[in-house]
Amino acid sequence: MNDRRHFLKLGLAGSAALATGCFPKEEGAEEKAVDTPLSFTKGPVILSTWIHGMPANAKAWDVLTAGGSVLDAVEQGVAVVESDFTNRSVGLGGRPDRDGHVTLDACIQDHEGRAGSVAFVQHFEHPISIARAVMERTPHVMLVGAGAERWALENGFSRNDITIPEVKAAWEEWARTSNYKPVANIENHDTIGMIAMDAAGRLAGSCTTSGMAYKIHGRVGDSPIIGAGLFVDGEAGAACATGVGELAIRTAGSHTVVELMRQGRTPEEACHEVVLRVQRKHKELVDMQIGFLAIRADGTFGGWSLRKGFNYALRTTDRELMVDAPFDIA
Ligand code: ASP
Repeated sequence: MNDRRHFLKLGLAGSAALATGCFPKEEGAEEKAVDTPLSFTKGPVILSTWIHGMPANAKAWDVLTAGGSVLDAVEQGVAVVESDFTNRSVGLGGRPDRDGHVTLDACIQDHEGRAGSVAFVQHFEHPISIARAVMERTPHVMLVGAGAERWALENGFSRNDITIPEVKAAWEEWARTSNYKPVANIENHDTIGMIAMDAAGRLAGSCTTSGMAYKIHGRVGDSPIIGAGLFVDGEAGAACATGVGELAIRTAGSHTVVELMRQGRTPEEACHEVVLRVQRKHKELVDMQIGFLAIRADGTFGGWSLRKGFNYALRTTDRELMVDAPFDIA
C-alpha cells in the first residue's frame, strides 16, 4: 500500500480549476509534467482509487479496446487487484478482521443503474464477479455472509482457502497488543473503486475491498453499499469512495456526488461538497480519510479528499498516470 508514496505528488491542493498531472516514474527519474486540463477527455476514461488502480485501469482499458463492454471493463479491471495476494487492502491478501477472518465486500453497477453486491464474504477470490452474478442472475441486489457464499458455490464460484503467513503473523501481533480495538486510520485501508465511461458515453463502476483492518467481525463498510461506496446513473454520472466507510455510508456519499452533478456541479465540486458535508457532520475526524472520484455524464471527471494523500489512477486515450486529489486538510 505504501507504494503510493513512491509516486509523484502533484500539488493539486486547493480549488485549482485545472489539475496538473505527472506521469508515474521510478524514484529519481525526471518528472514529466502535463499542463493541459485533466478534467475532461473525449473518448473513454477510467478512474480508479490509489496506486493499485494503475494495473486495474490497464486491464480495463484492454477490455474496452478489445470490444468488451464498460461493465466487463470495471469487473475485470478490479479483479486484477483482487488476484494480487500481496495487496493488503483488497481481496484474499487483505488484512483480517479482529478475529482473524478476511471478510470481503464488493459491488458493481451499470449505466442503467442495475446493481449487484456481496458483503461479509469469505474464501472467494473474486467477490466482484459474484456481485455481478448477483446482479445478472438473481432478482436481488445484495447477498451477505454465509448465504452469499453458499449461493456463489451453487453458481460456479470456487472456494479459495489461501492463508498468507505474513498477514496472519501481523494480525497475531496486533491481537496481542490491541485490546481488540478496530483500527481506523488513513493507512490501513485502501479499497479499489473504479468508475469508467466508454467511447459511447456509457458508464459503469465497481468497488472491492477487504475493508477496514481488524474491524469487528461482521462489520460491513461502504464499499458494497450502492449509494455509499459506489453509485452509477447513466443520465447523471458515476462516483466511488474510499476511506473510512462509515463516513460514506452516513452521507450516502457516492449517491450524493452523483445527485450534485445532476444539479450542475462539476465532478470536482460535487466531490468537494460531500467532503465538506462529512466535515460538518463529524467533529471527530482525527486520523480519518475519505475521498471520492466522479465522472459526469458529459465526460468531465475529478475527485476530492478530506486529507492530503489520496491519489487516483487515470486512464484516457492519451494519458496513463497517477493524480493527487485536491484536499481540505494538509
Ligand atoms: N471504504 C472501505 C471500508 O470502509 C475501506 C477503504 O476504503 O479502504 O471498508
